[in-house]
Amino acid sequence: MSYCVHCGVELDRTEVSCPLCNTPVNNPNQPIDINGKLPYPTLKGQVDPVKRGDSAILLTVVLLSTAVACGALNLLVFKQGLWSLYIIGLCALLWVFFIPVLIYSRLSIYLTILFDWAAVALYCWIIYYQFPVNHWFLRLAVPIISLLTAFVLIFTFAIRYFKTSILSTAFLVFAEIAGLGVGLEIFIRMFLNQKIHITWSAVVLVCCIIIDGMLFTILKRTRLREEVRRRMHI
Ligand SMILES: [Zn+2]
Repeated sequence: MSYCVHCGVELDRTEVSCPLCNTPVNNPNQPIDINGKLPYPTLKGQVDPVKRGDSAILLTVVLLSTAVACGALNLLVFKQGLWSLYIIGLCALLWVFFIPVLIYSRLSIYLTILFDWAAVALYCWIIYYQFPVNHWFLRLAVPIISLLTAFVLIFTFAIRYFKTSILSTAFLVFAEIAGLGVGLEIFIRMFLNQKIHITWSAVVLVCCIIIDGMLFTILKRTRLREEVRRRMHI
C-alpha cells in the first residue's frame, strides 16, 4: 500500500501520481503496476451542449401541446365561450417571438420585428373578435402596436449602425419614452373622441427632456464623459 508523501491520501497500485495533488508516486517497496486495471473510469462522461434546434423543437412541442390541449378542453369539457382562443393565440404569439431567435438566426432582425408586430396584432384581433366594441382594434390597438414597433425598429437601427455607448443608448431610450408617451396619449384621446392635447405625457416629456439634456451635455464634453465612465465603470 502506498500513500502520497504530500497529502497522505491512500494510493492505488496503478497510480503514477497522486490523483489529488499530482505529486509523483515513488515507493521503492511497491513498484507501480502499469498494466493493472485503473480504479476509476478513464472516459469522461460529457454531455453534448444543447443546440438551438433542440430548444426550438422543445418550445414548439410545449406550445403546440398546450394549444391543442386547451382547444380540446374548450370543445369537449368547458364548452362555454371561446376561451381557448386566447391561449392558442398566446401560444402562437410566443412561438413567433422566440422561434426566429432559436432557428432563423440569419433572418433580418427588422423582418423579425415586423413578424412580431403581425403576431401581436393578430392576438389583439382574436380578443377583438370576442369583444367588438367601438372598433378598438383598428382605432386603438393597431396604432399603439405600430407605434411601439416603429420605436423598436428605430432603436434597433440606431444601435446596429451607430457606435452607441451605454450613455448614448440611454439618451435614445429616454427620447423614445418621451415619444411613446405623447403618441399613446394622442391615440387614447383620439379613440375616446376627446380634444387632442397632452397632459400626463407632457410631464413624461419634460422629465425625459431634462434627462436627455443632461446626457447630451455629458456626451459632448469629453472630460465629463470620461469622469462618468470612470466612476460608473462603463
Ligand atoms: Zn497527494
